[in-house]
Amino acid sequence: MIKLSEVSKTYSTKTGNITAVDNVNIQVDKGEIYGIIGYSGAGKSSLIRLLNGLEKPTGGTVEVAGKRMDQIGESGLRKARQQISMIFQHFNLLWSRTVSENIGFPLEIAGVPKAKRLQRVKELINLVGLEGRENAYPSQLSGGQKQRVGIARALANNPQVLLCDEATSALDPQTTDSILDLLVDINKRLGLTIVLITHEMHVIRKICHRVAVMENGRIVEEGKVLQVFQRPEQPITKRFVQQITEPEDAKETIDLLIKQYQTGKVVQLTFVGDSTGQPVINELIREHQVNVNILHGKITQTQSGAYGTLFLHLEGEDSELNHALVFLKQQKVEVEVIPNA
Ligand code: ADP
Repeated sequence: MIKLSEVSKTYSTKTGNITAVDNVNIQVDKGEIYGIIGYSGAGKSSLIRLLNGLEKPTGGTVEVAGKRMDQIGESGLRKARQQISMIFQHFNLLWSRTVSENIGFPLEIAGVPKAKRLQRVKELINLVGLEGRENAYPSQLSGGQKQRVGIARALANNPQVLLCDEATSALDPQTTDSILDLLVDINKRLGLTIVLITHEMHVIRKICHRVAVMENGRIVEEGKVLQVFQRPEQPITKRFVQQITEPEDAKETIDLLIKQYQTGKVVQLTFVGDSTGQPVINELIREHQVNVNILHGKITQTQSGAYGTLFLHLEGEDSELNHALVFLKQQKVEVEVIPNA
């Protein structure tokens, strides 16, 4: 559905050239939710603007929904935008228009007759859960409701691709989750391909199938979300993954706990996918002469399975401890012994 080959974007400014996107290769399949994560200035906005033709690349090819966006002219671009829609951090609604009028706006532009337009707007209102708010103005809506209008408007012309530009960054955590749930629902129901850019790993974790990590204009790491969570390679990816698995307070708690245990071993188990359901701890206790103390744990759900970490303190004879570690390493979990003395 989307293919970027050796794509670069350099801006010429008074103070010199800035390469915002540097030799990026990406392929996104139909029906996939693909996330691009990076800190501010990484080049995410420039990249997403290349996908809907708001910017032209300096080099490389950009193919979206069968169209070469790097070669397309003005009139082709207007047509292509019906296939490639976008939602924004600050919603970009028309403030003097009601919810229904905002949602119907792209249909007006596309020349859809009024009766058909009203029917489609009604469907879209139902799809995004805005029944009863049809005649409200954007200023009368909550942030979450505004983004629902943005999503409905983006879907009006039945696009093939939805681009999300930090779509939940202006929302509180609970509203963020409800909007992310809506995007997953739409992805499943309509088979829509979604590309999103974000600086929040929570967003990637909750809805993406695959993720690309962007730094200084380059994609430095890419893969299935669960795999990237399990084995982040680049330092920047590790930092993003830690946002989710080890919030700062948890890290402090663990450090404190580790200091308390001068004997025995502290181990970190990382569970991925199916292994989270395995009765590993049960067997560890039943079959080894070790005392097991659970220090801290967290299991996180992603689109393709669960991911979690568990910190244990094990105490017993050295030989029993070694047997226990060998046992753990034979299971479908990653085991790391943390120095605690
Ligand atoms: P992100 O979305 O990850 O914050 P951007 O794509 O906005 O990253 O920016 C990447 C780099 O490109 C930054 O250094 C930014 O200052 C620069 N940049 C972005 N847009 C322009 C522009 N229109 N003109 C000049 N420089 C730009």
